[in-house]
Amino acid sequence: MVKQLLHKAIAGGRLDFAEGVELFNEASLMDLGYAANVVRRRFHPDDQPITYVIDRNVNYTNVCDAYCTFCAFYAPPGSEKGYVLPYQTIKEKVTELIELGGTQLLLQGGHNPELGIEYYEELLSRLRADFPTLTLHALSPSEIDHITRTSSLSLEDTLKRLVAAGLTSIPGGGAEVLTARVKKIISPLKIPASRWLEVMEAAHTMGIRTSATMMYGSVDTIEDRIEHMIKLRELQDRAEGFTSFIPWSFQPGETPLGKKVKNLTTATEYLRMVALARLMLDNICNIQSSWVTQGAGLGQTAFAFGANDFGGTMMEENVVSAAGTRCDITLDEMIRCIHSAGFDAAQRDTQYNILRIHPRQSARVHDTLSLAGAAV
Ligand code: SF4
Repeated sequence: MVKQLLHKAIAGGRLDFAEGVELFNEASLMDLGYAANVVRRRFHPDDQPITYVIDRNVNYTNVCDAYCTFCAFYAPPGSEKGYVLPYQTIKEKVTELIELGGTQLLLQGGHNPELGIEYYEELLSRLRADFPTLTLHALSPSEIDHITRTSSLSLEDTLKRLVAAGLTSIPGGGAEVLTARVKKIISPLKIPASRWLEVMEAAHTMGIRTSATMMYGSVDTIEDRIEHMIKLRELQDRAEGFTSFIPWSFQPGETPLGKKVKNLTTATEYLRMVALARLMLDNICNIQSSWVTQGAGLGQTAFAFGANDFGGTMMEENVVSAAGTRCDITLDEMIRCIHSAGFDAAQRDTQYNILRIHPRQSARVHDTLSLAGAAV
C-alpha cells in the first residue's frame, strides 16, 4: 500500500489525510526522499538552481501580551526588558542589508498593546520612502490581527492601509500547527488556526503573496501536522497566494514549553516532514529548508528530500536564538552548501524570481536511488 501511495504522488495524484498519515508512519525514509525528489523535479528540474534570498530579520518590538509557551523572545508589557526600536536604528540595519545586496526585510515583532495602525503605517511608509526597491516582507497574521484589535479596524481595511503604506508580502509565521488542539496548548492567547487562515485568505484575495510555515514537534501528533498541510492546500486551492512552505522543528531551549516536552524530534523526522510536505502540497511551488533551526548540514540534506530553497541569510535572527538555537552561516557557506549538494545556487527575490546564478564548478552526482523493490 505504501508503494502504491508513493507511486500515486509521483504520478501527480493528490494524497488525502489518511494517506499522508500512512506515508509518514509506514514509508521508509529513503523511499519518502526518493518520491519527494521526483516530485521536486516536476516543480524544479535538476538544471534549475537551489535558491536563497539575502534578507535581514528586524524585530521592531519584543513587547508582547500573547505569552506563547514556546517563546523566549518576548517581554511582557511594562517590563524593563521591553523595547521598540527607534526608526533610525531600523534604518541603519536596513542600510547594511542593502549594502550587502539584500532585497528583503523580514519585519516582525510582538503584540505590543501600545502600537496602533498609525505606528505601522509610519514605519512602513518611511522604509518605503528610504528604500524604494526593498521588499517589505512584514507582519505575520497574528500581528495583523493584533492591529485590527488595537485600532478597531476590519481585516480588509487593515490590510489595505498597510499595503498603501508599503507592505509588500506577508510572512507565514505564527502558524505553529494549525489545529485548535495544539494552539490551545502552546499559544492560547494568540489567534486560532481559523483566524490565521482567514488573514491569509484575505491577503491572497487582495493579491498579496505570503509564505506558509509549520513549527512541529512539541505537543502535536502526525495527524495534526497532516491536517495543517491539508488546510494550507485547501486555502491555496480557494485563493492562491502561498509562495512557499517552510517546516521547522520546535526549539525547546529556554522556553516554558521546552521544559515539558519530553520527546524531542530528530533529524530524520525533519527529513520525513520535508519529504511529506513535498508530496502533500501539490499546489505550493517551493519547499524551503531551514538552516536557521536545523543547521546547515541538515538543511543541505533536505535538498535530497524535496526542498528547493535554502531560505534567507537572516542577518540578525533574534527569535530562534532567544530560545537557545543559533546556527549562523555566511552567504559564502550557503552557496558552498548548495554547490556541494550538486546544484547551482541562485539569489532570488521574495517572489522567487532569479536575480543571479552562481554555477557550481563540478558535475552533478546523479541519483542512484530508486523506490526499494519497485519499478518506477
Ligand atoms: S511567539 Fe510572537 S506572539 Fe508569541 S509570545 Fe513570542 S513574540 Fe509574542
